[in-house]
Amino acid sequence: MNFKFFVPTKVFQGENCVSENKSVFEEYGNRALVVTGKTSAVSSGALNDVIKVLDEAGIEHKIYDGVQNNPTLENVKEGGEAAYEFGADFVVGIGGGSPLDAAKAIAVLAVNDIKPLELFKSTFKKKPIPIIAIPTTAGTGSEVTPYSILTRKDMQTKMSFGNEELFPKVAFLDARYTESLPGNVAVNTAIDALSHAVEGYLSKRSMHISDVLALASIEVFGDCLTSIKENRLDFDTREKLLYASMLAGMVIAHTGTTIVHGMGYSLTYFRDIPHGEANGMLMAEYLRYNYGIMQEKIENILKLLRIKDIDEFEAVIRALINRKINVSEEELELYASLAMKQRSTSYNAREVLQEDLVSIMRKSLR
Ligand code: NAP
Ligand code: FE
Repeated sequence: MNFKFFVPTKVFQGENCVSENKSVFEEYGNRALVVTGKTSAVSSGALNDVIKVLDEAGIEHKIYDGVQNNPTLENVKEGGEAAYEFGADFVVGIGGGSPLDAAKAIAVLAVNDIKPLELFKSTFKKKPIPIIAIPTTAGTGSEVTPYSILTRKDMQTKMSFGNEELFPKVAFLDARYTESLPGNVAVNTAIDALSHAVEGYLSKRSMHISDVLALASIEVFGDCLTSIKENRLDFDTREKLLYASMLAGMVIAHTGTTIVHGMGYSLTYFRDIPHGEANGMLMAEYLRYNYGIMQEKIENILKLLRIKDIDEFEAVIRALINRKINVSEEELELYASLAMKQRSTSYNAREVLQEDLVSIMRKSLR
């Protein structure tokens, strides 16, 4: 029973939770840099609520809205400079995982005069400025993790950095902000959340307390599955998905992810497949691969999803994300070799060889 458990983020969930908690923003200073992507902060209504609260609290603010999907080092450099020049006391990240992860990097660069590549050392002279995270997707759980995942063009992949100081201080979960999500993005991001709970639950680093959270997350996801399949995401379902995503974030904050994410990064980097969708494409084969040594846990997952076996799991996911891609053997080798370099690959329950990853991807992408 030896473990360390740490999630220092204060989480508010509920309709209008931003507007109703003005005093929370006041705790972090007089100047806020708001970090967002191109349009979703506006279309979700979240930016409007935040600006109103900041204005009412007399907090000066500036918006950096240059974050791209799968944020680049250039994005966070630019955002970091904006934060430094503005003299931001804290950062408010609004968006999917991309703006939230960028906000974390920007919080470091706001006070540390380092090159973006040095972020990956994960230790910084000065503490990052505080981060308030407001998710507009129900997927990454980044609002309760210490990780920031950035695109490394120099390494042809995505890579995470982080330390305990990068946990957002506060997360506001308002399901109204996910209502503007296009249907396919709502589904992809929900699958990302499921993959966090599943990979965390089956990880070598899992422990009882993370398993409790993972199973709760999978159960809530299971409650939503019929609505997801029927494309009927009402407010209650959206709230549940945000909650499941947050629980799964707390899981990976402790266990990390494993090979689904490791391989998925290549599908995103080279094929531009959205993060959650990439994970979804690989999950069934990943379960088959680990079944021999994780049978009981995998059966628990299927039971909570009310799914009979891995074949049915595969059919359910395929019905949600029906994408076919052609990948050559050379590409599979490249993707697998890059995934082998991810630290998280070593957290997979079963000892992983590069040829195993090639085989999982070949079967998944056929
Ligand atoms: P995302 O890349 O943040 O956003 C995907 C797309 O959805 C963007 O075009 C975005 O528009 C749009 N969007 C977001 N919210 C919307 C809304 N409410 N209404 C309409 N459009 C909306 O997607 P994501 O899947 O949430 O995040 C993926 C990133 O998170 C990846 O880089 C992944 O590696 C990372 N991730 C991080 C962690 C972690 O622990 N830190 C865990 C898993 C994944 P805009 O561009 O206008 O914003
Ligand atoms: Fe993820």
